[in-house]
Amino acid sequence: MSLLSAAQCIIEDISAVFFPPSCGLCDQPVRDRDSMICGACWDCLISLPEPMCEICGMPLSAEVTPVTPVCGVCLSAPPPYRKARFGVVYAGNVRHALIGFKYYGQIHRRAALARLVTETFDHHFSADNTDVIIPMPMHPRRLIQRGFNQVVLLGESLARHTGISMCRNVLTKIRDTPPQVGLPRAQRVKNIKGSFGINGNERIRGKRVLLVDDVSTTGSTISEASKTLMHSGAGSVEVIVLALRTQNAILEDVSGKEQSDGIDDTGGL
Ligand SMILES: [Zn+2]
Ligand SMILES: [Zn+2]
Repeated sequence: MSLLSAAQCIIEDISAVFFPPSCGLCDQPVRDRDSMICGACWDCLISLPEPMCEICGMPLSAEVTPVTPVCGVCLSAPPPYRKARFGVVYAGNVRHALIGFKYYGQIHRRAALARLVTETFDHHFSADNTDVIIPMPMHPRRLIQRGFNQVVLLGESLARHTGISMCRNVLTKIRDTPPQVGLPRAQRVKNIKGSFGINGNERIRGKRVLLVDDVSTTGSTISEASKTLMHSGAGSVEVIVLALRTQNAILEDVSGKEQSDGIDDTGGL
């Protein structure tokens, strides 16, 4: 062992005494720093049940699953993205951790939340089919207020995990839209329309883009951002979202109704 590695081990041992590793979702102790999420939290995560629509990722009712697994919404009005997938349902400790990370600057939750994104990527996507990662942007005014874009941090972790490069300033938020919370779907679509811009479309022309977001409710934000990317020359857009705030009857059944906290989930806005 080199002197440098020995020194590093000593520092890690000392910091483990004063700062024992804890779960990034619930803060309970974990065995080692690599665990990031404790067993109890893993057990409580709610994945989206299969079968799911192969385009939008929403669960399909088992009784009406068609031969081609595409939901009625996607059949009647195909979304601008090729595929969207959500890591977990926005509930319980994931919801608390995301609120802390996003609104209270609890950056120590990043690794655990990023782990949920990378697990979702490994399950549903392939680095061979993706050219560039694009994080959902925030309007500059909101970015100044918050000091960081939590989606950029998750996107950086995903880029490190996959080896795919991330372009953070291509998709931009050009209009500071009011919070979406509590609005019906039609109003959300109107609210977000025309609010994204592209800075340097040569960077996405013909590319297979993976758009990253932290929370989605009706999908109106990811649809509008995907539309902007496609109109600006992207070859295709796929979407990965850490958590889905339920509006789906099947998911309401599995996640319970514990989600009313009055805090908005406007994703990267
Ligand atoms: Zn935990
Ligand atoms: Zn669908």
